[in-house]
Formats: sequence, structure tokens, C-alpha cells
Amino acid sequence: MFVDSHCHLTFPELHDRIDAIRADMAAARVDRALVICTTLEEFPRVHALALRHDNFWSSAGVHPDNEGVEEPTVDRLTALAALPKVVGIGETGLDYYRLGERTVHDMQWQRERFRVHIRAARQVHKPLIVHTRSASDDTLAMLREEGAEQAGGVFHCFTETMAVARGALDLGFMVSFSGIVTFRNAEDLREVARFVPLDRCLIETDSPYLAPVPHRGKVNNPSFVPHVAATVAQVKGVPLEEFARATSANFERLFRVPAPAATAN
Ligand SMILES: [Zn+2]
Ligand SMILES: [Zn+2]
Repeated sequence: MFVDSHCHLTFPELHDRIDAIRADMAAARVDRALVICTTLEEFPRVHALALRHDNFWSSAGVHPDNEGVEEPTVDRLTALAALPKVVGIGETGLDYYRLGERTVHDMQWQRERFRVHIRAARQVHKPLIVHTRSASDDTLAMLREEGAEQAGGVFHCFTETMAVARGALDLGFMVSFSGIVTFRNAEDLREVARFVPLDRCLIETDSPYLAPVPHRGKVNNPSFVPHVAATVAQVKGVPLEEFARATSANFERLFRVPAPAATAN
């Protein structure tokens, strides 16, 4: 009944424990997950998980933080996006958090990479999975400039302001909340969660990182996503069952995946 819209099951913390994680997911009523790709080198393993398990799907893309990896082209991404069970382009976006010695100006390569993803998403009509950190103005500006509303998508692991949420919604994008929304000091983010319409909300773990309360500090996995759902449902004043149904329907609509009844697993 719950969907984890963003997890990294190929990361070393999780990859050797897939069977145990799947059992925990079933026990927690987390019936589906979108496994997110962060490099082209990693794609075959991400995609293999989606092919092996009926209730897993895959994305194709290169994370903005990854340097020294194969650079994607529009053609490469559109080819990967055409493969079975690849339902989104990303994760992609802009991240100016780790500039080090560099300035924002030096991050032109990141903006070019983001542009390539947006163009690929528009070509294949698949949604963008957007990562933005310390770069929300440029992220929104580039999405507008490149006509990303034609592809649609989601701002994942949302930690930005109300104004940025409004910008994402104006573009027709969804907003996905992670375990951060459960953290004690995240009152501003809970205000954003209250504001985002129910038909535009997704939930995710971004596992193995950012485990929600009461598992904070542990290795995260998709079976923890109900804790994210419980917090957002509570701040919105919506019964948990209704919130789970709504966010699952949003996932199906955005990524064009079948409802569970049609999923043989
Ligand atoms: Zn991310
Ligand atoms: Zn991620």
C-alpha cells in the first residue's frame, strides 16, 4: 500500500540484503519501490533489480554530484529510457553544496548535464527525478528555460522553502518528502508538507541515507517509508490509509506504472 518513490538499492549498504529488505517491505506493507540510478556505470545493476522483481522500477541518469564518471548524452539517455521498466530520467539536477574551491560559475558542466537530462526526458515523455541542493534558483530557472513541464517530474527529498515548492508545483511537478520531514528540527519542512496538495505529494526513503525517526542514524531501507507517510499524513490532517492511497496513485500517474492489482507479485 505504500510506495518508496526513491531508493538506492544498489549501494553497498543495501545491495547484499535485497531478499531481507523485500521481506521487511512486505511486512511493512511497502508494496513497490523505484530504484534510482546515479551513474551510467551503475545503470545495469539498477535495471537488473527492476527486471528481476515485478514491484521494482528503475530510472536512468547521472547524479549532479558524480564527477569522473561517464557523461550522458541525450541519445544515450533516451536509449536507456526505452528499456522495459525504466520509468523516469534521473536523478539529475544541480548541487552547489560541495563547491569546495569552486564558484557557482565553475559548475557549468553540471548545468550542461542537467540540460541533457531535461532534453532526454522531453523526447521520451518520461518524468524527471530532480535533485536540488543549494541551487534552487538555477534549478527552477533551467527547468523553465528547457520546457521541462512537458516532461513533468518530481523534486525528490524536498528540503527547500515554500517558495521553491510553489515553483515546482507551478511547473506541474510533484514534491517528494523523505525521512527529513520526521526530524525534530524540520518544522519549516512540515509547513511545506502541509501546503503541498495531496495529489502532488510523493514519499521516499532516499535509502540508504536519511532514515526517518524512530530509526534515525540507522541504515535506511524502503520498509521505513511508512514513517515518512505517517508524519506527512499527520501534518496534513489526513488519515494514514487515505494518504497512502493518494501517494500511491500519484506515483502511478507520474511514472505510468500499473496499480498493484495489475502487478503480479
Ligand atoms: Zn538526491
Ligand atoms: Zn537519491
